[in-house]
Amino acid sequence: MDLKLSRATIFERCLKARCPNCGQSKLYKSWILIYEKCPCCGMLIKRGNGFFIGPICINYGIIAFGVISPLMILGFSATLPFHWTLVMSILASFALPILFYPFAWSIWLMLYYLCLPKELYENRSENSDDLLFDEDERL
Ligand SMILES: [Zn+2]
Repeated sequence: MDLKLSRATIFERCLKARCPNCGQSKLYKSWILIYEKCPCCGMLIKRGNGFFIGPICINYGIIAFGVISPLMILGFSATLPFHWTLVMSILASFALPILFYPFAWSIWLMLYYLCLPKELYENRSENSDDLLFDEDERL
């Protein structure tokens, strides 16, 4: 399998929250608005119905198992005052999904394209029927 864009390049671009295809544009317009398509290369970032479930699952998983569960364990084990861990958990459950939203998208795109690198335009063959790009918007 000969890829123009290696998995290392895809990994690096997604860590920087950049388009995995061109690496030129960020993935988001503002903190909570993800581009539908990359403004530089035209690759669809939101690939269709249900594609947003991936970032939601990543966001939920990291916050529930990486933040709230450890806080609750610390609270129930009396390592920290329980009322303090409860308040921190409630605040975290509201604030962290918003703070982590663009990173969840970046991680989701990284996982997706690391598993399916040939889905990227740069890795597609010449005769590929590519429905994921709007050719008129490509530069
Ligand atoms: Zn791009």
